[in-house]
Amino acid sequence: MLLTELVKITVSVIKADVGGVGGHTLPSDGLLDAVKKTIKNAGDLLIDHYIGFCGDDIHILMTHTKGKDSKEIHQLAWTAFEEATRVAKEEGLYGAGQDLLKDSFSGNVKGMGPGVAELEFEERLNEAFTVFAADKTEPGAFNYPFYRLFVDSLSNTGLIVNQSLAEGVVFNIMDVEEGKIAELSLWEDKPTIEAALMYPGRYVVSTVNTKDGEPIVSASTDRLHNIAGTYVGKDDPICIVRTQKKFPATEEAGSVFNNPHYVAGNTRGSHHMPLMPVKINSAATIDFCIPMVSALVFSMHNGKLVGPFDGFSTADWDYIRNIATQKALAMRSQGFIHPATLVPSELEYAEGYKARMKKLQSKMKPLEDNKLSAQRKESYDDPD
Ligand code: 13P
Ligand code: MG
Ligand code: MG
Repeated sequence: MLLTELVKITVSVIKADVGGVGGHTLPSDGLLDAVKKTIKNAGDLLIDHYIGFCGDDIHILMTHTKGKDSKEIHQLAWTAFEEATRVAKEEGLYGAGQDLLKDSFSGNVKGMGPGVAELEFEERLNEAFTVFAADKTEPGAFNYPFYRLFVDSLSNTGLIVNQSLAEGVVFNIMDVEEGKIAELSLWEDKPTIEAALMYPGRYVVSTVNTKDGEPIVSASTDRLHNIAGTYVGKDDPICIVRTQKKFPATEEAGSVFNNPHYVAGNTRGSHHMPLMPVKINSAATIDFCIPMVSALVFSMHNGKLVGPFDGFSTADWDYIRNIATQKALAMRSQGFIHPATLVPSELEYAEGYKARMKKLQSKMKPLEDNKLSAQRKESYDDPD
């Protein structure tokens, strides 16, 4: 397909967990083949595509000219995940169809289980972007790295020396509990942005744009338990970050993941553990299941992809992986005691926990001190 430079390209990345080998580990070859076959048969709907996985989450990256929220594109990804689910069931994979929370497609995969990040833009002559795909965590896991990338010049010198970034960017932050979104602009809204990012379980970065409206970041924001009403798996997020020129350098976008910070997720989605940068197409570890993120670095011209270069594959990232492992073991060395586990309202598998708490409550008796102070209060209220 020949495109003039004014044609806008859309980069859509849609991901879902539709089953893992022997647990929440990685997709089988059969499952990946089913996705690949469906996408290959899409004819000229797509300009290009790439399919890979992070832990048990499969991502489908598609370039096209249909714009964001295109029914055809979302339908294609949904069908691919349905086909994969069929294979996962045949193979007896664990959690077959885990993230397909609705029975039939209704025009857009948002709110149906799969995660979506999409950017539409006029391609630069040397378009560069990185996809960060995560597993065993939740969308708020990107709050800290995005903060380092766009707000913290100690992490990113580009915020001082790059004219566009120094002007500040515009964050769209979603309240995933209330289903609302706020536009907050740097540098005037800095403390408000910080207050929101402080609580990744509720406030999540959805997009980041330059002050003159160029899109830089799109991130998936769905929380699965908000859709399903109960725990069905972590809301493993994915995002696209455009890099170079007016945007952060690729190595600035990568390096904000070099301090494995604690995120919610891990085993049973119920612990705080560090986010470990891993190589592309890595299985989730069965040493618990340390939250993980991979970096897929792409070039693109006329919608045609070159890459991915595996961003966290170089030798230095082994050192960061060691730090993550040490932090993970340190946190889990205190077992179930907070903050190793999440607070009760965030705890997944809540039914079992509620049953334990019910038992506990049934054994609770008022303290003698409380009885005494209640009596004293009565006599004070009624001096006769
Ligand atoms: P996933 O969300 O990756 O399926 O993991 C679920 C889980 O509970 C792992 O222990
Ligand atoms: Mg799973
Ligand atoms: Mg997963």
